[in-house]
Amino acid sequence: MIPLSFAQRRLWFLAQLEGPSTTYTNPTVLRFSGSLDHEALEAALRDVLERHEVLRTVFPAPDGEPYQRILPVSETGFALVVADVAPEQLTETVARTARQAFDLATEIPLRAHLFIVGPDEYALVVVVHHIAWDAWSAGPLARDLSVAYEARRTGTEPGWEPLPVQYADYALWQRELLGDENDPDSVLSQQVEYWREALAGVPEELALPTDRPRPAVRSYRGHQAELVVPAEVHGRLVALAHERGMSLFMVLQAALAVTLSRLGAGTDIPIGSAIAGRTDRALHDLVGFFVNTLVVRTDLAGDPTLAEVLEQVRETSFGAFEHQDLPFERLVEELAPARSMTRHPLFQVMLTLQNAGSAKLDLSGLKPSRMAGGAPTAKFDLDVTAAETFGADGTPAGIRGMVVAAADLFDGETSVQIAHRWVRVLSAFAEDLSVRVSAVGILDSAEREKLLVEWNDTVVDCGVSTLPGLFAVQVERTPDAVAVVFEGVSLTYGEVDARANRLARLLIAEGVGPECVVGLALPRSVDLVVAVLAVVKAGGAYLPIDLEYPADRVAFLLEDAGPVCVIAGSVDVAVGVFGGVACVVLGEPGVEERLAGLSGAELADVERLGPLVASHPAYVIYTSGSTGRPKGVVVSHAGIVNRLVWMQSRFGLGVDDRVLQKTPFGFDVSVWEFFWPLVCGAVLVVARPGGHRDPVYVGELMRREGVTTVHFVPSMLEAFIAEPAAVVGLAGPAAVVGGGLRRVICSGEALPVVVAERFFELFGGVELHNSYGPTETTVDATLWRCVVGGVVAIGSPVVNTRVFVLDEWLRPVPVGVAGELYVAGVQLARGYVGQPGLTGERFVACPFGGAGERMYRTGDRVRWSVDGQLVFAGRAD
Ligand code: AMP
Ligand code: MG
Repeated sequence: MIPLSFAQRRLWFLAQLEGPSTTYTNPTVLRFSGSLDHEALEAALRDVLERHEVLRTVFPAPDGEPYQRILPVSETGFALVVADVAPEQLTETVARTARQAFDLATEIPLRAHLFIVGPDEYALVVVVHHIAWDAWSAGPLARDLSVAYEARRTGTEPGWEPLPVQYADYALWQRELLGDENDPDSVLSQQVEYWREALAGVPEELALPTDRPRPAVRSYRGHQAELVVPAEVHGRLVALAHERGMSLFMVLQAALAVTLSRLGAGTDIPIGSAIAGRTDRALHDLVGFFVNTLVVRTDLAGDPTLAEVLEQVRETSFGAFEHQDLPFERLVEELAPARSMTRHPLFQVMLTLQNAGSAKLDLSGLKPSRMAGGAPTAKFDLDVTAAETFGADGTPAGIRGMVVAAADLFDGETSVQIAHRWVRVLSAFAEDLSVRVSAVGILDSAEREKLLVEWNDTVVDCGVSTLPGLFAVQVERTPDAVAVVFEGVSLTYGEVDARANRLARLLIAEGVGPECVVGLALPRSVDLVVAVLAVVKAGGAYLPIDLEYPADRVAFLLEDAGPVCVIAGSVDVAVGVFGGVACVVLGEPGVEERLAGLSGAELADVERLGPLVASHPAYVIYTSGSTGRPKGVVVSHAGIVNRLVWMQSRFGLGVDDRVLQKTPFGFDVSVWEFFWPLVCGAVLVVARPGGHRDPVYVGELMRREGVTTVHFVPSMLEAFIAEPAAVVGLAGPAAVVGGGLRRVICSGEALPVVVAERFFELFGGVELHNSYGPTETTVDATLWRCVVGGVVAIGSPVVNTRVFVLDEWLRPVPVGVAGELYVAGVQLARGYVGQPGLTGERFVACPFGGAGERMYRTGDRVRWSVDGQLVFAGRAD
């Protein structure tokens, strides 16, 4: 029994695994006009079957192991299927024909259909399964069919010499050549050794700029994008290949590796390529599956020059060619990479330079023209094919090609972009080989402009003010309106203001002024709201000290931030926790007496120890940071004022709005919870201490107080909406007070799509926003409004803020490619308390801004969507 070749064996195996499929069928479709002799054509096809045994071979597997069973033509059941088809139906009919799967055990791997479209108008569809076919088979098949047709048409037989060998001979010879795997000196063993070393540690899956995650089941659907390399570049690349003793293919390969790397694939880039595998002259005229796959791996670590990349690809390729006999399928078995049915093993990007020669079917009396064979199938994530074209005098006339991108992963537009970028990189190779990989211009100037300027066009005049400035304006507008509600007690704007003014005057007397820090050690309460206002009114920056923090953390904050004093709620706390620091204990008789003696009138700037300006710090909030040591982020009035003015212009909070304050004040989200309602006349509803952890309490409070606006960290939102007792009656006509919930704002961590979907199911008309930003960019830098059934992005930059998605060389990455997010603009924090070194590391010079402008390195990975929205892609470190 004749065994299958290794390559055939793999296809046969895949066919068992996948069931009937057309992933590996190759349709060739030809249109003809002229007079056709059907019988001669059918006879000629039989002649071709007769000549090429592989085309009349079936692969039964009686004991589970398949073998080649070569049938006599008479037993193949072959017939040319002839049918009339209306011209408008041809495309669909052809596609349907190409979609019919083969049963390899019983059917020969060739089928032919002739569609009669009109008088003297034909379409011939020849479908051959890959098990008997490769790109280099087209030439022999076309030649033989032409000769046979010409003979049959004139009533003779093709007078060709029989082929010296058949595919079955090759299958046997292949086994013999490769030898025994148990023999260490066999070609097989040696080549396995070579490849094992060459591919050690190769990435399991290349990180491509995909538009969506890999699905569990592959559809094999593809998008097809054309690529055109201009004649001039083609000519230069040919010359360059010649000068460097390498093939044009190797140059294309080097450029593709550079392209993928610049598109975020890293620096270890394996690319597959097909080699004819017809190493013996005797195989040249055979139809059959000889092609083998090689993996060429390019190492771009250390930012080499293009010349260095070429040299490396040259060497690696020659090494690969010398070890090309090992069938790819054997290699996969040997290396046993983590297998997945959803991606190609060892490489996911294929590059082919079609040098199989053009196959010309020449049927006398007929004028042929090719016709597309239906939608492309995507066997790889990216399948790049290219072919050279030449002028009449043989000069390079350009490279034409095609990128087929797996539709499971990519949008059509993305495949076009990838094709486009590869051509740009090829031009870079043609221009200057001394350029380093990182410096290759992967973006054109219009794209750069879009990424750096258009999508960052956020300049808006927010006025120059400070937190006390904004608040004063509102107090004057609505002194008698309710400002704060806490546990059944409410205070008007006038009342809150007077209390805050008194406390501010006391703080000034204690030495608090601009550039001073004041610790706040109060539980959530009206006093806390008053104290926050008082500190900023005095000109100081407030430092939240959560009494739930462990003692050593509190000690660290005090030591690090060096507050002038701490405002506490009880003597016990003051003595126990803040022993060495000056304390103002609210409620203590002495303090209350002093406060009573102070004016509650608006505080004038001259009363402060120095004039308060927008660049002064408003608060200091500590974030844990990845390094372990907490860092105190110093945020200016300019930053938080911009944040609040923007938020108000974006959402337009009204006097009938009620904002819940439930975020612990050690997190910066609490800053807008406190101040946003208070600077626009809305009501601040303060949750009781610890209440933020209890979804049922939060829901109940929201219902009771008619809360319209609330923040949730996504994981809390998930818990909240999973609790029926929490959400009941919160939204829609049934809502208790004032029409109920209007908007939910999420931030702090990635908002899962499922949570957003569930949210909309429950709260149809309520707005859901996803806001993003590190404390260093003043709470938030970007915002996205979620829509039903849509993706969850982090959106676009807030006003007076610019965002940059950069690679490790601080160069903007293309749309769709993940890079690190940098943020610039007025919301940048001043830096970290007492850590100029760390500040300098994270707040770096902005290469896209004016002199002295800084940008903050977020450590988050994001990518741009095609319509200019940022999508979160995880932490960078
Ligand atoms: P913090 O400085 O404590 O506000 O933490 C900021 C970090 O939280 C960011 O750098 C992100 O890693 C993460 N983060 C904040 N908002 C979002 C969001 N909307 N989506 C994903 N991650 C977020
Ligand atoms: Mg934040």
